[in-house]
This record gives sequence, C-alpha cells and structure tokens, in this order.
Amino acid sequence: MNDGIHVAAMTPIFPGSENAAGQPATLGVLGGGQLGRMFVQAAQRLGYFTAVLEPDAQSPAGQVSHHHIQANYNDPAGLAQLAHLCQAITTEFENVPAQTLQTLALTRPVAPSAAVVGIAQNRIEEKAHFTACAAVSGVSCAPYAVIETPAQLQAIQDERADLLPGILKTARMGYDGKGQVRVRTAAELAAAWTELDGVACVLEKMLPLTAECSVLVARGWNGQVVSFAPQRNVHVEGILAVTHAYEGNMPLALADRARAAAISLAQHLDYVGVLCVEFFVVDDGSEHGCLVVNEMAPRPHNSGHYTIDACDASQFDLQVHAMAGLPLPQPRQHSPAIMLNLLGDVWLDADGQLQEPDWYAVLSLPGIHLHLYGKLEARAGRKMGHLTITGPDVASVKTGARRAAGLLNLPGLDFI
Ligand code: ATP
Ligand code: MG
Repeated sequence: MNDGIHVAAMTPIFPGSENAAGQPATLGVLGGGQLGRMFVQAAQRLGYFTAVLEPDAQSPAGQVSHHHIQANYNDPAGLAQLAHLCQAITTEFENVPAQTLQTLALTRPVAPSAAVVGIAQNRIEEKAHFTACAAVSGVSCAPYAVIETPAQLQAIQDERADLLPGILKTARMGYDGKGQVRVRTAAELAAAWTELDGVACVLEKMLPLTAECSVLVARGWNGQVVSFAPQRNVHVEGILAVTHAYEGNMPLALADRARAAAISLAQHLDYVGVLCVEFFVVDDGSEHGCLVVNEMAPRPHNSGHYTIDACDASQFDLQVHAMAGLPLPQPRQHSPAIMLNLLGDVWLDADGQLQEPDWYAVLSLPGIHLHLYGKLEARAGRKMGHLTITGPDVASVKTGARRAAGLLNLPGLDFI
C-alpha cells in the first residue's frame, strides 16, 4: 500500500542538522490550517525549519512557518519549491490531490503516502478497506450501499430498504457534517441525491449511537506503532464540540477494542504518520453496546488536540517524529483533560455582532490552556481555536470545563 521507495531508504532527519544544500533541516506540510500550524509549532520546538504550501496569503500555519509557499496544491512550481526546501513532507489536509503527493514522493519521503490518503479521502474506498479488514480488526462499519447511478438509487428502494432511515454522504470532500443529508424514505433519498447533484455517495444506515470515540495511532517507516487511549467525543450539529480524555471516559472493554482495531487498520495500510480512526458506540442491547468504525483521517485530528497539554508527547510531536524517521515515544497522558472547541459563534452576540469573549475570566480558571489559530475573521461554525482543561482529577477538570463553557456560552455545556 505504501509507495515503497523510501521505506528502506529512510534515514532519520535530525533537527538542527544541515541538508545537502547547507540549509537547516526543514519539514514541509501541505495545507495552512490549524492542524498545519500546530504541526509547525511542534516541528520548530524540536529545532526544525518548516515550510507550508498554502494558497491563502493569511493562514494559521503560514503565519508561523519559516517558509510559506503561496501556491495551489497542484501548482508544479510551488511543489518543486516545497521539495527543494524540505527533507520530508506531510499533509494536514486529506483533500489534497493524490497526484500532488505522488509527485512529491518521487523525490522526497512523503508520509502518509498518496495511496492511503487516496483511500481516506473517498468514503467508498474507505468503507471497502474497513470491510476487508473487519475479520482482523474485529470491527465493521455501518451497513451501507454505494450510490453512483440511478439504477443503484432504485436498488435501495427495491432491495435495501433496511438502510432507511439513513444518512446520504458524498463520497468525497465531506467534513464537519457537510455533504450529508439525513433521509427517512426512498422519496427523500431520491430528492437528497438530486440536491447533491447526483455525485458519488454512500447511503449509511442511521444507527442508534450511545457515544462516539476516536483513536490516534502513530506509525513509523520501520513499522513501529504507538497510540493514545481512545477519547470520547461529543458532536453538536455535526461539529466536534467536546472531547473527554481521561481514564473511565468509556467502558474499558470498548476502549481496548477500539485501540486494537485502529492499530490493525493502520498496519493493514502500511501507514506512516499519524492516523485518527473514528468509532461509533451503537446500542445493540448488550451492556456496553458494540463498536462500529465510522471514518479515518490521515493526519492529526481535532479530537487529539488535548494531547498538547495533557500528554508528554502530542499528536503533532508524533507526526514530526514519524515523518522524520525518529523513534516514536509511547505517549503518556499525565493529566485528565477535556477539550472544548471554540467556533466563531463565541465572537458573535445574539444579533450576530462581533464581541470580544471575556478571556480574562476564562484565563483565570485553573488548568486552562487557550489555543487560538490566528484566523482573522470569526464566522459561525468556523473553528477558531480550542480550550483544553487539565487538572489533578476528573472532577476538577469537569468543573473547570463547565465554568469555561458557561463563560463562553458554548454548546458543549450540556455534555460535560
Ligand atoms: P468530520 O468532521 O469528522 O470529518 P464528517 O463530515 O466526515 O465529519 P461523519 O463523521 O461521517 O462526517 O459524521 C458526522 C457525525 O454525524 C458523526 O460524528 C455522528 O455524530 C453522525 N453520524 C454519522 N453517520 C452516522 C450514522 N450512520 N448513524 C448515526 N449517526 C451518524
Ligand atoms: Mg467524522
């Protein structure tokens, strides 16, 4: 599954060393969003120089990187410049064209590979991978059908009525609940497919979720694997609102199964880098419910942001180590934590007018860690930053998180 050419050839890129051109060792990232920014910050802490390829002039990662190449993801000159500057390249954005990663991989180690990013960016291929691995990973995905043609749409009504009510999801370019329509009947399904312009989709059966969780795995060029314990996630209107990261956040039996499944999915992809696998906990009448795999992200994930403040190695540290061929430390979580996402809504009052949040009150809380991504314009639903609350025990973390959510009027308050 891996491009293969660099696996054997990968020698560690040490921070602070010089490359062949006499430049400081430099790591590159495709995409300039907040995930790129936190990657850049982790790489720089270790002593690397960084380069970001991002078309926007003002981006969270571009602002803090040594080099910002302002170019589109498929711009040959921009990619050549990135390859010239960097000793290894990663991505923060799974919708980067697979051809871009392939081109870069001709001359530089690229992690994760074009092949695995290609699978993760297409729900049809992603679900085929989950299904192929189910016997080994022990976890299946939700019952689903592919809809690419009117005949396949008709077949749902005729043969797969069990998938309704369901969620119609575009095969490509979905995130934060975008490109998804909930449908109850065959008529609603047909209307929804038309609304989505008849693009390739999957129809997934609507499952009775009791919880959601995700697992972060890091895997090196040499096959070494480390992972974080599963975090429990709460979504509000399709967007992650709260992550609970502490012992006891979910039944241990489920947590162990999720972690083992995520590792096995990464191994089957011959994955290099940080992979996040999202799971549903579904009510099947059993004591804890059963685990269903939802989707995977070929990069660090919003649900892993707590690792910056609550662990001795963060998901971004591991991304740096993995791509650079450094040893992967097994991360240790030293504090229980809750992460609260800060959407643009926090900056908008009831009339939609801009207001400055009461940071003084928020920053007065014990164990609070504020991360703002440097985005210049607050818009409803836009991820502007996050808060991580750490503390000596779960009770104090919950108290701090409730206070912060109350001060900022966050939707997650009901879920802490
Ligand atoms: P992300 O921001 O994680 O990339 P996304 O837009 O790719 O999100 P999904 O993760 O597929 O979308 O779905 C978003 C949310 O919708 C899930 O976290 C879950 O709460 C709900 N959901 C999705 N699929 C199902 C399902 N089959 N049954 C019940 N709820 C679902
Ligand atoms: Mg998701």
